[in-house]
Amino acid sequence: MTLSSPSIATVVLLLAASMPSGQAQGTAKFQPRKSWSFAADGVSFSNEFSGARLNGVTRTGALAYQLAINPETSPINNSPWFAFRVGSKLPQKLELTLVYTGGTHRYQPKVTTDGDHWTAVRGVDIAKGRKQASFSLETSPETQVVAGQPIITVDDQMAWTRRLTNHPFVTQKEFGRSVQGRTLPVLETQTAPAASARTLILMTGQHPPEFTSVVAFRNFVASVLGDTPLAIEFRRYFNLAIFPLMNPDGWYNGHWRCNANGIDSNRSWIGDGLKTVPEVQQAIAVLRKIPKPVMFIDFHSTNINVLYTGPDDDKEPRFLVPEFQAALARRVPDFEWKRETSHSTDGTPSRSWVTRELNIPSITWEFADTASPDRLAAGPAAGAEELMRLLLRLGNDNSKPLARYDFEQPGQPGADSAGGRTAQIVGTPTLLPYCGFGSAALSLAPTGSHLTLPDFDYGSKGTTLSLWFRMGLNSLAEGDCTSLISHGDVTRPGNLNVFHRKSSSELSVRICDANDHPAEGDIDLPDALVLDGKWHHLAVVVRSGEGSTVYLDGIIRGAKPSGNDGLDPEGSIYLGIRQDGAASTRYKGALDDVRFYGSPLTPYDLTTIRFPEVRER
Ligand SMILES: [Zn+2]
Repeated sequence: MTLSSPSIATVVLLLAASMPSGQAQGTAKFQPRKSWSFAADGVSFSNEFSGARLNGVTRTGALAYQLAINPETSPINNSPWFAFRVGSKLPQKLELTLVYTGGTHRYQPKVTTDGDHWTAVRGVDIAKGRKQASFSLETSPETQVVAGQPIITVDDQMAWTRRLTNHPFVTQKEFGRSVQGRTLPVLETQTAPAASARTLILMTGQHPPEFTSVVAFRNFVASVLGDTPLAIEFRRYFNLAIFPLMNPDGWYNGHWRCNANGIDSNRSWIGDGLKTVPEVQQAIAVLRKIPKPVMFIDFHSTNINVLYTGPDDDKEPRFLVPEFQAALARRVPDFEWKRETSHSTDGTPSRSWVTRELNIPSITWEFADTASPDRLAAGPAAGAEELMRLLLRLGNDNSKPLARYDFEQPGQPGADSAGGRTAQIVGTPTLLPYCGFGSAALSLAPTGSHLTLPDFDYGSKGTTLSLWFRMGLNSLAEGDCTSLISHGDVTRPGNLNVFHRKSSSELSVRICDANDHPAEGDIDLPDALVLDGKWHHLAVVVRSGEGSTVYLDGIIRGAKPSGNDGLDPEGSIYLGIRQDGAASTRYKGALDDVRFYGSPLTPYDLTTIRFPEVRER
């Protein structure tokens, strides 16, 4: 921290004067910034620095002082923050008493001379219903700062934020201004493919004195931005939106809790309070624009370590929070975590807004006021690693396809054995007793037969299409093009189509993400390999950030960069006819065990599909 920063107040006043109207300061009572000097003892006190809080000083006897600590508004959450400078001409022992108004003693006093090294004050005597806390202070030739926690100033946090942009993949933006005109920063990473990336949202700094959570936040962020193989893998699939300083005015003014309008910003995300918290209004505008948020964590401090979350049964994925908590307990067993699924009493914190508006898992992660620096390093680092693993697992659950049409249920050719995406039957497809997989297969030989499958999201890591087909000359359409599978317009970016062309005597796999040119992505399989009336297995593996690979009967037959930005075609998926419904594209052969995965399967996984007994071994 910087112990002397006299110019900031001037800058702030200038900025505040230029703010648009309608953001006038409300009920916040600002402390007068001043010094108190006592010639009899040769002692002085001051609150003239960033983050200070001292409302008055009374000399009660030789070397004895009462220090008034008042909140910026009332009533207020019990967060009685204090921070002040003490100077003394001689080394001597002062008797100091903190006298709280509107709150009771919470923070053990700590002392520093350099702003970096802090020592806890021992022998604090708490009295009068915790309304007063007394302790001795040995003065030294150097000016001392006494505070409730090691201070992190606005400037410190902005400098830390700026340093993160040394990572080439981190961008810092100003998403708005506070009531007093201070910058509201957000850090963004864009390392994952735009079309498929999901975004983890991290936040802190709503409540000024909650510095243990800021330390934890910094350590968590360092882990997700780090150069470990896990973090690098994580950032291939997930972007980040990081809000490191949500209430800079409250931090600067040494507030217990509120912004410059005297409003608790984490009780204002929903309802009328929002009008007086431009910091939150502007954050909401940013959050609403994030295309695929995946999870939200807001870092705070309180008397214990606790995770405030939603219940497990109201959000996908259900495993996320329970497994996260279990992993924390396993990784840092001496750092105990509680979990509370109840919402805050008035239901207006960030977490409630995120749950309601973004419909994603959200956590208010509270760190104990008394958590030691080594726990504030170990806990968040372990938490970041475990959360990255869990989120990666979300997009890479190879064991379960998103949808699977195995045609094994008599009379129900449209059944999805992986879930509820039942296909619509058009015409009269039949089930064949001889097949590529299992005990039955689908024949689209009857005139006018095809299946229409509901559209779905393939996921951020990539996509796999796996199917068996049996195709002879009599399976081909009247026209030049026979469509086996069609998702999205084959002539436009954003499609996955498998079709046979008589004119070129080959089966083509066309994979186009939103940035691919349709004609450039085809991987072609010559008729000699596919048009022989025998069953073949086709696998199309699209890996976000890399591209596409086509396997025929387990052998790679082609690979291209197409699809590397993530596949997300629109509209229904058609089996046996092109997406535009052109009758001349009807496939009249057989299909079996058509599967869609929301992840790129490995060759091993493909082997287990072709030879299911492999997995059994
Ligand atoms: Zn808080």
